[in-house]
Amino acid sequence: MTLSPRFNLWTDPWIRVIRGDGGDDEVSIGDCLVRAHELAVLSDPSPLVVGGTQRLLAAILQAIYQPGDVGDIAALLGAGRFDEARLRQFERDYAARFDLFHPEAPFLQTGDVPLDGYRKPEKGRQRAWGDPQPVARLFAEVPVATERTHFNHVTDEGHRLCPACCARGLVTVPAFVSSGGSGMHPSINGMPPIYVLPAGDNLFETLALSLISRDLQPRTADPGRGDQAIWTSDPPVVNKDHAVEAVGYLESLTFPARRMRLYPHTGSTLCTHCGRPAAVFVTHMLFEMGHWLNKEAGIWDDPFVAFRNPQGRARSSDAGPRPVRPEAGKALWREYANLLLEEDEAGIRPRVVRQVSLLIERRTLAERQELRFRCIGVRTDGKAKIFEWLDEALEAPPAVLTDPDAAGYVQAALEQAHEGASVLRKVFDRHFRPERGGARQDFVRFNSVRERMLADYWQRMGMHFRRFINDLRDPRQRDNAERGWARAVIEVVRPCFNAALDQVGARADALRARVEAESDCERWLYAKRKEWLYE
Ligand SMILES: [Zn+2]
Repeated sequence: MTLSPRFNLWTDPWIRVIRGDGGDDEVSIGDCLVRAHELAVLSDPSPLVVGGTQRLLAAILQAIYQPGDVGDIAALLGAGRFDEARLRQFERDYAARFDLFHPEAPFLQTGDVPLDGYRKPEKGRQRAWGDPQPVARLFAEVPVATERTHFNHVTDEGHRLCPACCARGLVTVPAFVSSGGSGMHPSINGMPPIYVLPAGDNLFETLALSLISRDLQPRTADPGRGDQAIWTSDPPVVNKDHAVEAVGYLESLTFPARRMRLYPHTGSTLCTHCGRPAAVFVTHMLFEMGHWLNKEAGIWDDPFVAFRNPQGRARSSDAGPRPVRPEAGKALWREYANLLLEEDEAGIRPRVVRQVSLLIERRTLAERQELRFRCIGVRTDGKAKIFEWLDEALEAPPAVLTDPDAAGYVQAALEQAHEGASVLRKVFDRHFRPERGGARQDFVRFNSVRERMLADYWQRMGMHFRRFINDLRDPRQRDNAERGWARAVIEVVRPCFNAALDQVGARADALRARVEAESDCERWLYAKRKEWLYE
């Protein structure tokens, strides 16, 4: 008889953190929450693991504290740490449900598939679940250019993952799994949006700020399912390709978008992902379509996600607000207004950010110099061909988060920056876009010069933006900040344009075009200086 393998996320270490003293550590859920005030941040090479872990921990704390309004969150912040007695009570009630390899109730997986579900069924019989898949499916969301390279000596088939790596992979699924092939739906937020996660001075604060008071929870959440969570589901089963009509808030944070079952083996090996020795390892798993939210239920208004209202022509159609998602070549700061400030016809910031601004208004966080939000996302083409990760912090002085007037300044500044970019593009195109039927290599070359020019422009403006935000702190300085920003746009356009001109070549026709382009650009700068600065 072999002992059945065990790995319990509540008691066994798998969460990578940085301690308050700067050292690395790996902790269990139980430890992480008890010691959260001594830990600095969640830290993992994959931001998706960080995002998934923060949502799981927030779900657990949400179940324990059930904050009714921001006052409850303020009181918790005042306590400075999580209450050990309440954590122990939760542990007694539910820790058994956090076992990765439980025979009937495995964590975040389905309990109706046996641990040896990979075995071929007896002759003439069929199994009620899909064929085993390589466990690398858990890390499908890894960009090819980064993590893949450090384990590219192993093909997808050859992976042997230790339980901790399996746990880290599993927790990315509810927030970040994308379509990935026929019949596979993405998770509850559709194509993964940008998640805006509060970042406090230590992990306790980060997690306390990630609790959502009852009045700010998604309107689409079903209050009747408020107690439902993956650690209470009964039976502990994830159905195949199952449309759910209603979701409770706790369920949404760990939404079982895939029907999964890890097939563990015992025997000593080295994990092909983290390189550590492992006595239990997983090479294959069940990985098929699980639950999805019925379209009729409407868009899930996740409290960590910002929404943009349809503009222009789309406004007249019945298209509702859309989650803000990462976009190719678009620096995160360009979404600053929508991610942190807006609550008007243009868009709606995440409810968790609104909650932070309510806390500031009741003077809970007002003395902070700055509030930070860690923005995590993954850009995909919707077919599980992953493009890139996003993991960046946005900072905001408290006065900017709470003052709609500041939002107006930021919106106007972003529009001016956009105008600067569109002039660069227009003037460049007018003078250097080859005629139809022109040489193809010129076309390709000029396009890449243009793209570099725009990237250069946005990067330089990004450096000015940080200062601009900081200058908005004082309402009396805002008009000055606005002028400084307008001047920056004008002053950044010229060198970017000239740098691009240097690359378009020195043929006679190019030279003539260059002179004309330069004066075209100057004309525009002159007009804008008049319009924006009255100079
Ligand atoms: Zn490992």
